[in-house]
Amino acid sequence: MGVILPEPLPESTVSLDATVLLDWYDREQRDLPWRRPGVSAWQILVSEFMLQQTPVARVEPIWRDWIARWPTPSATAAASQADVLRAWGKLGYPRRAKRLHECATTIATDHGDEVPDDVDTLLTLPGVGVYTARAVACFAYGKRVPVVDTNVRRVVARAVHGRADSPASVRDLADVEALLPNDERAPRFSVAVMELGATVCTARSPKCGICPLGACAWRAAGYPPATTPARRPQRFTGTDRQVRGRLLDVLRANASPVPRAELDVVWLTDTVQRDRALLSLLSDGLVEQTADGLFALAGEGG
Ligand code: SF4
Repeated sequence: MGVILPEPLPESTVSLDATVLLDWYDREQRDLPWRRPGVSAWQILVSEFMLQQTPVARVEPIWRDWIARWPTPSATAAASQADVLRAWGKLGYPRRAKRLHECATTIATDHGDEVPDDVDTLLTLPGVGVYTARAVACFAYGKRVPVVDTNVRRVVARAVHGRADSPASVRDLADVEALLPNDERAPRFSVAVMELGATVCTARSPKCGICPLGACAWRAAGYPPATTPARRPQRFTGTDRQVRGRLLDVLRANASPVPRAELDVVWLTDTVQRDRALLSLLSDGLVEQTADGLFALAGEGG
């Protein structure tokens, strides 16, 4: 049976105090390098690729090295796929690195090395989905577009709709757009809501005692429990993702192709799983096999 979503509240009740929120953001925002003045749209886009499934603390050092080495789309496009996969390091979900390389190539070739500034064009780029397109248009170009990630969705669900959380819905964008100030504060408002969800109104332990929002519908209603089951944190140990990571570690450490035996030793507990992981890396185009049966990172198979 499908999930029945509660109806949104009437628009007249939907509001977040932009002045209060922006004052709080000015005081309390984290000093993240991709938010500083002078960071280019490309560098913001790189941060959004990296942050999709990886925490800030792990992204920050990799992002700094990355943009120092490849500050523009064309510089990234000129790098080899293998070097990009090496620089991605242990961020996980390495298909993102491949897509970022493809995205850089498209921007360098088709867009004069400039990241497009409108959502529709951004959506045509490899690896750029609805969230990333809107985040770049908003954070890099100051566009008034709703940007909805899990943090924003949770803050709006709680403070505005009085619910513990909210599953992703087609209504999200319109819902958040209705909350945006109708002036130049809109992009900063978006990042402030996101920051509130990331640092104060967190999924497991909202810090209501230090929350800047004077009105919160969920708090006022006595914190009614969620009506949908909480998402369990994703396991990593023993998964195919872990095996894929170990196999890639071997290839990252070798500048030339390696025999199968060097890969086989990294996962001896379940050989079926190991073979499946290797096959998936080959079919994702992250790993290549040479004519004589050796294995290498993409682009290094001869
Ligand atoms: S009062 Fe608590 S639940 Fe409401 S928005 Fe603030 S942190 Fe979240």
